[in-house]
Amino acid sequence: MKKNNPIDFKIVESMKAFAENYAKTTDTFFCIDPEVTDSVIQGLSKNKDLFGAPLCPCRYYDEKIDEISLAYWNCPCVPMRERKECHCMLFLTPSNEFSSLRQTFS
Ligand code: SF4
Repeated sequence: MKKNNPIDFKIVESMKAFAENYAKTTDTFFCIDPEVTDSVIQGLSKNKDLFGAPLCPCRYYDEKIDEISLAYWNCPCVPMRERKECHCMLFLTPSNEFSSLRQTFS
């Protein structure tokens, strides 16, 4: 397990690219508050950097390594893949009151 900070820049960029592609693929959008989106991307990137997988950053886990091996909360998590439910508010459906029209970071 890696312990150093800061988060690898390339990992943050790859998580952003993933989020852009996945939003377009699923017809979902980023939050109207960009700080929410940035914070989730940072959390996903940190877990990817530390543990090798983008474990959802918006939940508590007793053991992150064990949780990653189950794959349920590895982004995109099962609730997102099955029902477009992202409790982190990274991917929002157009009907969500907090949804913007953005699917990119530029
Ligand atoms: Fe990813 Fe699911 Fe967490 Fe949303 S709730 S950031 S889709 S793991």
